[in-house]
Amino acid sequence: MKRDRRVKIVATLGPASSAPETLEQLFLAGVDVFRINMSHATHDIARQLVFAVRQLAKQHRHPIGILFDLQGPKLRLGEFAGGRVFVSEGATFTFDQDETPGNNERVMLPHPQIFDSIAVGDTLLLDDGKLRMRVKDAANKKILAEVLVGGALASRKGVSLPDTILPIGPLTDKDRGDLECALDLGADWIALSFVQRAEDVLEVKSIVDGLAAIMVKIEKPSAIEDLDAIISAGDGFMVARGDLGVEMPVERVPGLQKHITRKARTAGKPVIVATQMLESMISSPVPTRAEVSDVATAVFDGADAVMLSAESAVGQHPVTTIDMMNRIACEAETDPDYRAFVHATQIMPQATGADAIAGAAHAIAQTVKLAAIVCYTATGSTALRVARERPGLPVIGLTPVEATARRLSLVWGIQTYLTADPKNLSDMVQKAAQIVFDEGWVKSGEGMVITAGVPIGSPGTTNMLRIAYLDKDGIPDGHAGSVAPSAQVPD
Ligand code: PGA
Ligand code: MN
Repeated sequence: MKRDRRVKIVATLGPASSAPETLEQLFLAGVDVFRINMSHATHDIARQLVFAVRQLAKQHRHPIGILFDLQGPKLRLGEFAGGRVFVSEGATFTFDQDETPGNNERVMLPHPQIFDSIAVGDTLLLDDGKLRMRVKDAANKKILAEVLVGGALASRKGVSLPDTILPIGPLTDKDRGDLECALDLGADWIALSFVQRAEDVLEVKSIVDGLAAIMVKIEKPSAIEDLDAIISAGDGFMVARGDLGVEMPVERVPGLQKHITRKARTAGKPVIVATQMLESMISSPVPTRAEVSDVATAVFDGADAVMLSAESAVGQHPVTTIDMMNRIACEAETDPDYRAFVHATQIMPQATGADAIAGAAHAIAQTVKLAAIVCYTATGSTALRVARERPGLPVIGLTPVEATARRLSLVWGIQTYLTADPKNLSDMVQKAAQIVFDEGWVKSGEGMVITAGVPIGSPGTTNMLRIAYLDKDGIPDGHAGSVAPSAQVPD
């Protein structure tokens, strides 16, 4: 299966997309990674979805990633008597720890940590920022706040505290259970919501212990403040524009999107642009022009992936939406100015062998006009360094490790195939030749550059480059007459 779009597509699964036939249609329309949102999915549903996606991947012999998104410490109000009240602008509203149902003057805030960390002057945002209050006084387990923007308020609505750093970890009890389920089911990526600081990431990393890669959702002002440390701690990042646009002034989101994308690209770690990309397609078969432009902008910024949430989870046109996203992305990538836009972000190599090899592979491929860069990669790190270059030709990852292939499905421009470790240098060239020829990446008479580590199979040793041309039968130069061993694709 040949897919040559460079940016990847992440689609959230939900009632609109969970039937196995729909999953297959979504995959065929362009989905590279499926997201399971643990704010909504039960463990049972998650298990069924993982099973269906793994079946699909096996059937199409194509790695498909699964991203488990943990709900994280989302703060909520307690209950109101009658379920709903109206809070007026200019009034004083009290948050306390009294379980009695609330009214238009007070309500319980069932998160005791907030009372110790909030300070006078801090902002409280309620119901996705629709209501806004400022703290006037905080003492004796009570918070008195002035209502700056009033409105209707219902039980259990979300609370955001953009100015307050809370002494809470990144995982709630629910998240711990969900994480265990995700690891049990062999998740490829774990997304962490409402991360406040780099230590949050490191804490979860030590629990996950390499069983999955960690995707940090950037959706809090404190995460923006600690961005450099967070980027060095995480494996990938999501510009989570939904909550980011609640916790920060919404007009700051576009600049932050570009800033986070550039930082992640510089680090050579994948970045997803998420939320409301084709929002109107939840109920309409065609997007707005602004949404089309939004998807194209993420592609021109060189983001690794673009994501759909409600559009594919609960929308009326999930397959049409993926098809539209795919068409927008492919068109953007063939725009005459595409390379100039993507390379507007200058990415300098680090002083490592891997970056020297990645840069050299790219330069060689351009100089002698090769058809593909092929990377043997055990952990995926070499392929990530090559993708970081955003080369203008296909990047083919070859790995014996299925988990690596699935993790790389999120990464810009890499198409990964499973193959056994080559036995020697000659075998390395022949295995690569067979796959790129059979899969249609390199034709007779065309060449490729291969990167690998010798001794073969030892991770972290990328240290060699080989140029190889294919003859009319797809046999690499110098190998005519020898029998190419067939690629082994474990299932
Ligand atoms: P969510 O994350 O959909 O889990 O809230 C994405 C976002 O906030 O944009
Ligand atoms: Mn969010």
